Amino acid sequence: MKFPEQNRAIGLDAAVAARRERAELKSKLRSGELTPLRVIEMAKVKKSAAATLRITDFLTTLPAIGPVKMRRILEGLAISDKKRLGGLGVIQQTRLINWVTEHTTGSGAPVLTVLAGPTAVGKGTVVKQLLADHPEIQLSVSATTREPRPGEVDGKDYFFVSDEEFDRMLAQNEMLEWATVHGKHRYGTPRKPVNEAAAAGKLVLLEIDLQGARQVRKSDPNAQLVFLAPPSWEELERRLSTRGTESATEKKRRLNTAKVELAAQDEFDHVIVNDTVEAAAEQLFKLMNGNKQV
Ligand code: 5GP
Repeated sequence: MKFPEQNRAIGLDAAVAARRERAELKSKLRSGELTPLRVIEMAKVKKSAAATLRITDFLTTLPAIGPVKMRRILEGLAISDKKRLGGLGVIQQTRLINWVTEHTTGSGAPVLTVLAGPTAVGKGTVVKQLLADHPEIQLSVSATTREPRPGEVDGKDYFFVSDEEFDRMLAQNEMLEWATVHGKHRYGTPRKPVNEAAAAGKLVLLEIDLQGARQVRKSDPNAQLVFLAPPSWEELERRLSTRGTESATEKKRRLNTAKVELAAQDEFDHVIVNDTVEAAAEQLFKLMNGNKQV
């Protein structure tokens, strides 16, 4: 028979060991060695590290899920933040499995990534570099009512459509999001190609403006929002004036939009400073890939 002090010591050792096992589990989940679905499956074993993992810890270990998003997800799933994975009811467990299946790739990375940022920050160049390095990523092609610039190809850079066609697409609910950008032309993301790519397990990138990013946040709380920021305001002005494709009035209009957009970067999950194109593209890829090493 053991003395009470010894019992307490043994209990403490067990608690320390359990905590260590949970930390290991989280690290494997974070690195992609274990998928979220596998961890949910492991939680069926009573008293295992997975079963004793808090639902809050499980969710925040997944890529791009911080405390705010985690609360929103739990609310949507009607699961209390006090629950541990092993303590979920059958219905709650099914809801969680469905959520994980619908909103993450097998690796746990979010399916949909939105890249926004002020005008002339270099979004286009960073995206081009990203796609050259990682052609498996699907870039959504937007529809727009603006005229093509020299060299732009219909169906590749944009779907250039008339106002009437844009109206029709909206009426038929064909747009995932849309906005009037720089107070002038309309731009929107066709819903179907995004859904098809996501269903095929592809990582999808949307390069859109701030208003569009906010709409995506509402319709898909699990989408990750990435803000591309200029190294400085002066640099942004310089990039805009060397671009040379816009008139003086157009430049002024775009700088005004940029000021508003820069102020909104706190709403985003991640901010990437566009110092060099290569580094920015690689950071973006890591975020899309769930921060895993390549
Ligand atoms: P540009 O006319 O220079 O190609 O694009 C102007 C702005 O429209 C950019 O800031 C770009 O991010 C935004 N944009 C392009 N496509 C879409 C879209 O589908 N939806 C929204 N909301 N903005 C878009």
